[in-house]
Amino acid sequence: MSTYSKKQVADLVKGDLDWDTVHLMLSMPKDGDRYKLYMEVLQDNVDYDDKIILAMGPHLNVVERTSDKEIVIKCDCGHDFGDYRKNWKLGALIYVRDNVEKMEQIYPALMAPDTSWQVYREYYCPSCGIQHDVEAPTPWYPVMHDIQPDLKTFFEWLGMPAPAKI
Ligand code: ZN
Repeated sequence: MSTYSKKQVADLVKGDLDWDTVHLMLSMPKDGDRYKLYMEVLQDNVDYDDKIILAMGPHLNVVERTSDKEIVIKCDCGHDFGDYRKNWKLGALIYVRDNVEKMEQIYPALMAPDTSWQVYREYYCPSCGIQHDVEAPTPWYPVMHDIQPDLKTFFEWLGMPAPAKI
C-alpha cells in the first residue's frame, strides 16, 4: 500500500506541494510503491510510448525504447540522445557564456564572474530548445559527464525485473 497518492507525487514533481508536505515526504521512510508512482507521473508528462525507467533531470529521462528495447536518454519532447552510457551533453546544443557581454545578460554590471576563470555552458535540447543543464567550469575544463547510472544494481535494489538490455 502506498502512503502517498499519485496526485501528491505528481504535485511533488511539478513543485506544487507545500513545504510541510515535502519535508514529511523527504524525511519519512519511502514506501515500496514510490518508484512505480514516480515513473507513472513522469510517463503521463510525455507523449512517447518508450518506458521511462529513471529520471536524469526535470525533462530528461532514461527510457527503454519500445522498438528495439535499447536503453536511451530522451527529452520530454521525444528527442533521442542515444545510449544511456554515453554523455547526452555531446548531442545537445551548447551555448557558452565566455565574455562580459554574454555574462551581463544574466548578471548586473560588474557582478558577473571573470570569464578568464569561469564560463557557463548551457545545454539545450536540439528539438524543443528546453534547457537541460548548466555547468560553471573553468574555460579549459572538458564537458562533464554527470552520471552513468548502474541500472543493474538499481533494479536489484528495487527488487524489480531489470530491462533486458542493460
Ligand atoms: Zn526536447
